Amino acid sequence: MQFIAGIGFILGVLALGSLAATAQQPEPTDIRAKIAEVEDWVIGWRRDIHQNPELGNREFRTARLVADHLRALELDEVRTGIAHTGVIGVLKGAKPGPVVALRADMDALPVTEPVGLPFRSTVRTNYNGVDVGVMHACGHDAHTAILMGAAEVLASMRAELEGTVLFIFQPAEEGPPRGEEGGARLMLKEGAFKDPKPDVIFGLHVWPAPAGLISLRSGPSMAGSDRLYITIHGRQTHGAMPSRGVDPITVAADIILGLQTLVTRQMDAAASPAVISIGKITGGVRHNIIPDQVDLVGTIRHLDPASHDKLIQGIKDTATGIAKISGATADVRIETYAPPVYNDHALAAQMTPTLERVAGDVGLLTGTPPTMGAEDFAYFQREVPGLYFHLGVNRDGVPIGAAAPNHSPNFFVNEDALKVGVEAMVMMALDYMAAGK
Ligand SMILES: [Zn+2]
Ligand SMILES: [Zn+2]
Repeated sequence: MQFIAGIGFILGVLALGSLAATAQQPEPTDIRAKIAEVEDWVIGWRRDIHQNPELGNREFRTARLVADHLRALELDEVRTGIAHTGVIGVLKGAKPGPVVALRADMDALPVTEPVGLPFRSTVRTNYNGVDVGVMHACGHDAHTAILMGAAEVLASMRAELEGTVLFIFQPAEEGPPRGEEGGARLMLKEGAFKDPKPDVIFGLHVWPAPAGLISLRSGPSMAGSDRLYITIHGRQTHGAMPSRGVDPITVAADIILGLQTLVTRQMDAAASPAVISIGKITGGVRHNIIPDQVDLVGTIRHLDPASHDKLIQGIKDTATGIAKISGATADVRIETYAPPVYNDHALAAQMTPTLERVAGDVGLLTGTPPTMGAEDFAYFQREVPGLYFHLGVNRDGVPIGAAAPNHSPNFFVNEDALKVGVEAMVMMALDYMAAGK
């Protein structure tokens, strides 16, 4: 990781000078004053959403809160029910200019929240047959509140806006319930980018780094993700007489290891990093019966779209080939969750001074390696250039790597960072519009 706060500060000051010369936009100090006015509301919305978390495609209450807020701001248009519970607000500035989309996701996770916060969630649900709590353990409560705050600030500046802002509140980023479609892909299918079509899209994610630290990686920054299902069909027999049947358990073991060898021996480690992890194995009922069938479920991650086809074909060939030489068969099914998150190089270069200015003394991190985590924001970036950046939300004094990760029941959001998120979203929209492209 590379920390370039010093250089960033200098570049930021230079960029500020050139922007100030070319566009009549409000001074950052005025924007900060407006954000300070809405900060308490943003924190209030975040706590309200945190205490009332909803799983993907079921964000009914959250969507209502968002839509009511956007309507109260008298946006030009508020669309609801997109991709089940998605909400889109359209804010047309008084002057013509580009269309900027800002995106937040709204869904929570099947995670039980420990006792601690006064606004902790006590919501429970049945998830895939398991009774479990529901918690905003990925921080989407913060994302939704930040974008509501950004809408409040930008709506108050309508007379000065040189363009249009599209506020996209997305359901089911963590994936829809079994058997349903959802998320960014479904929003696009249902016309999220039609009328007006954005020129560009920005989104952020909170993560365990120093509060207010922003990180942006140009180019591939998060992995593409597919779900992998392999069913191995053998032939049931006595555990003492394996030669009388076909053992799908040993075939499963060979396939699992074969997939690891596929990644390390057939894929280019530098150009096309990939990960295959089997997360679930099901098969058999007792110690001395070799079963008929074993099911494997896993995840496939990749960073290089050009190598995706080769990886997928390799998985199919490895599984079916290993099964065949053992006398078994393997059915392989692969479902794509999202392609890699790809931050457009030119756009990253254009907007870096903005993020440096917003991050201020805390700093902007640009040399972070890509993560093999995935985000369906990638679908929006396939339609228009986009930037996806991360915002640190650690407790004061806690460095990178020392706090619980996203999806942990101990994931913590430092609310002091929320105003930085609002400022980032507002300034990205304003600066992009002021540049006129
Ligand atoms: Zn998540
Ligand atoms: Zn998330």
